[in-house]
Amino acid sequence: MPRKKAGNKQGKQEPQKKRNKRFQSVRGMRDILPKEQPYWQKLRKVVEKIAIDYAYGRIDFPVLEDKELFERGTGKNTDIVDKEMYKFKTKGGANVCLRPEGTPSVVRAYLQHGMASQRKPVKLSYSGPMYRYDRPQEGRYREFFQFGFEAIGEQDAILDAQMIQMATRIFKSLKIKNVALHLNSIGCEECRPSYNNLLISYLNNRKKSLCMDCKKRLNKNPLRVLDCKEEKCTQVVGQAPQTVDHLCGDCKTHFTSLLEYLDEIQIVYSLRPQLVRGLDYYTKTVFEFFTEDDEGAQSALGGGGRYDNLVGMLGGRETPGVGFACGMDRLVKAMKDNETEPYLLPIPKVYLAQLGDSAKKKSLRIFEELNKAGVMIAESFGRGNLRTQLRQANKINAEIVLIIGQREALDDSVILKDMNSGGQETMPAEKIVKEVKKRLKKNAVLAKRIAKQKAEKEKKELSKKKKAAKRKSKKK
Ligand SMILES: [Zn+2]
Ligand SMILES: [Zn+2]
Repeated sequence: MPRKKAGNKQGKQEPQKKRNKRFQSVRGMRDILPKEQPYWQKLRKVVEKIAIDYAYGRIDFPVLEDKELFERGTGKNTDIVDKEMYKFKTKGGANVCLRPEGTPSVVRAYLQHGMASQRKPVKLSYSGPMYRYDRPQEGRYREFFQFGFEAIGEQDAILDAQMIQMATRIFKSLKIKNVALHLNSIGCEECRPSYNNLLISYLNNRKKSLCMDCKKRLNKNPLRVLDCKEEKCTQVVGQAPQTVDHLCGDCKTHFTSLLEYLDEIQIVYSLRPQLVRGLDYYTKTVFEFFTEDDEGAQSALGGGGRYDNLVGMLGGRETPGVGFACGMDRLVKAMKDNETEPYLLPIPKVYLAQLGDSAKKKSLRIFEELNKAGVMIAESFGRGNLRTQLRQANKINAEIVLIIGQREALDDSVILKDMNSGGQETMPAEKIVKEVKKRLKKNAVLAKRIAKQKAEKEKKELSKKKKAAKRKSKKK
């Protein structure tokens, strides 16, 4: 083993122990550390609340799915499936992939578990990691998180409007400002073929000016050319025939009624004839949400649309559906940009200090007893020094400090130090839970009274100022 020899030689030169290799997270994937979590926690709480308010049941589905599910659902010729999917063969020979999005999985589960027999629409919500082998960029990861809502079994445009309403409420709750809603209808099986022919002949006449990708997809999937971000293509597409001008009667009525619903709930939208969302399953409504930062750069927060053919495409009876999904990484970034307050963890008001080995043992038990009684406690059991522990208690503004020293450990008592009054007393350990709760309650009442007095004082001062301002303006 030549490697080992080389290692030994090196070992002679540097007498220190050779360190093992350190690992990094895989490219495009990252850790979300504790200091970041309050934003995620807030986001999850807001999304959960909306799911409850609108009666969406949570569903979790595997990260690993049959590769063909997305080839057939999302579409074989889409970038997501064609270029960005993590796919591999298992030991057993199954062709699987890491889920690149949620909707096909939700529909698979809907069919697999016979949800088609439930009262419609069947409303489901999910959240979790998705995987796309995309070029990693700032704020864009190969493992990213999405939440989504799907309603299966109802074709009325009121559900499309409700999806948009839910998304809008989520953005509002997260205090994300300047969110723009882009909206379009891309028709159905009835009206799309004739529109596609019209678009193909328009694009064929300008084929030279299109990018390589668009030249290829022109005949197979002309709608995707509308979606192309290459500047050459956006110029050509600007004058192309628009889907909304070639909708069949049914699609037209559907889109008009969606716009009426949105007007009714006062949601502002802007019609975007080039918006197609680029996935195979979309029909009729498609929409996207964007937020603008101070420099005017737009970033997508999420989007969705109607998929009236997807259940049929995946082997079920033709059933309409509509849904939307949002990128949680993007939303967390938008929360920070908008200085949204993250979720704040409750801070313990009691600190438990200990001195000596037998006291340490007792404190573990007292900690649990107080915790079980619903009292949050802070500690630093690893420290033996009383002074550092008391400093820690001061740092978190503890109202009560409990101290167990060697003597207290012996006669099963605890010193209770009230940080508000400064007084302290020794009492039997069995009385401590009751006493701590009593004092915390008293403090809470006191704090409430002080806050009330403060608010009243401020109110009085404000009205005084207002009166003074009024007098001043009258004099003028
Ligand atoms: Zn149609
Ligand atoms: Zn293009």
